[in-house]
Order: sequence, then C-alpha cells, then structure tokens
Amino acid sequence: MQVELIPALKDNYMYLIIDEATRECAVVDPVEPKKVLQAVQNLKETVNLTKVLTTHHHWDHAGGNKELVEMEPNLEVYGGDDRIGALTKKVSHNDELKIGSLNVKCLFTPCHTSGHICYFVTGPSGKQPAVFTGDTLFIGGCGRFFEGTADDMYRALVEILSSLPSETKVYCGHEYTVNNLKYAQHVEPDNQDIKDKKKWAEDQRSNNRPAVPSTISDEMMFNPFMRVKVESVQKHAGKSDAISTMAFLRSEKDNFKG
Ligand SMILES: [Zn+2]
Repeated sequence: MQVELIPALKDNYMYLIIDEATRECAVVDPVEPKKVLQAVQNLKETVNLTKVLTTHHHWDHAGGNKELVEMEPNLEVYGGDDRIGALTKKVSHNDELKIGSLNVKCLFTPCHTSGHICYFVTGPSGKQPAVFTGDTLFIGGCGRFFEGTADDMYRALVEILSSLPSETKVYCGHEYTVNNLKYAQHVEPDNQDIKDKKKWAEDQRSNNRPAVPSTISDEMMFNPFMRVKVESVQKHAGKSDAISTMAFLRSEKDNFKG
C-alpha cells in the first residue's frame, strides 16, 4: 500500500491510496479535484483511479466530488450520508470494498456529522493497516460534536478506533496537530509523550512538512480524547467516568485559546 498525502485548502488533507500490486487507486475527500488529478499524473508509475472515499458531507471534504466525477465519469463515490455530492455507493458499518488487492472496511463513526465514515485499509493478510479518519479523529484531538454527543464520540474513539491494531497508521482530515497538542498539554502537563510529540510536530510544521500520520498506539499515549479512561485525564475534567470526561474535554477545547 502506498499513501500519497495531498494538502488542500487551508489545512485539509486529501489522500491517494494506491495498491502497488494492481496499480488501482482511490482518493479520500478530493475537495480540490484538479489538484488530485495533477497528483495522479505526477506519480512515477501510472495508476488507475477508480474510487472516491468520502468521510463526511462537509464541503471541505465532499465539496469536490461533483466536479471530479464530471472529469472522471467512471468513478464510484462511497460515503455514509445522502448529503454527500455525487454519491453512488452508500455504505454502513463494517461494509467492505476493494482497491485492487487492498481491503477497505467502513467504520460508522457518527458524531462530528451523523453520517461520518472512517475507512480502515489493509494489505493482503491484514498487513500495513491504515485508517482514514476524516474529522472524527485528528492527531492529538477529535472533531467537534456537530451532530452527535459525547456518548457517540466515546463509541467512535474508544470502542471502534482504539480496537484497531495498535500499529495502524492514522491519516486524518486536517493539519491541527500542534494546536491539539497544546490543548493536550493543558490537560496533562506532566505527560512526556505529549511534550515529545509536540516538539516533533512543531519541527515538522516549521519545515513545512505534515505532522501526519501517527498510529493508534501513539494516539493512546498523547490524545486526551482517546485517553478519557485514564485517571489523570478524568482528574483534569473533575469527573469519574469516561463519557462525562469526553463531554468536558470537548467543551473546554471548543473554548481553548492555547
Ligand atoms: Zn467536517
């Protein structure tokens, strides 16, 4: 599996997922279609772009679907929400599809939006796992709860995404890493993993490099929203259970100025 990260708009990421065996390719959230096709052209070896994987209906993710399909009419467009432009294949939890020899499993993670899907991609025999998390899980943070509750985000982050193989690479929809880690440090000032990751992320960004991807096991070390069961995080929230801790963190982060 080859993953190409393509920056878009102000701080969005689009991704090409390429099956090296068959050269079949899918694109995640192609909000800038021309940039996507240019990136496909620029690859050293030719690929056959066949699928669009849409994480959710917000314009900065799904807003390029229609234009891309006008230019490439044979594309199949996947997503979990009827509000997604040019949708041809509506998916739900645990639906599977293929990108050549790669397997894609759809994970229904409603909360940021009520039809949000994360895409869990694996090579043959489960090798090289990667998850494309849109605006559900960010590096060091999570999306706002526009159409869901703390309960929903707990299910998405703790029950679904945390159960993926620990080495799974996390490719998210926005470059919010440094700001997220500033907030993480506010929650857990003594957490050395947060300090280390923040320093690394600041370095990456000052060299104009992405602070993406991470892994599921990384997130469980420094992402407060993945750590709502951890005592130090609950203590910061002044709560004794994971879901009210989740609710507290989200509303505190919404007002956090760093
Ligand atoms: Zn969004």
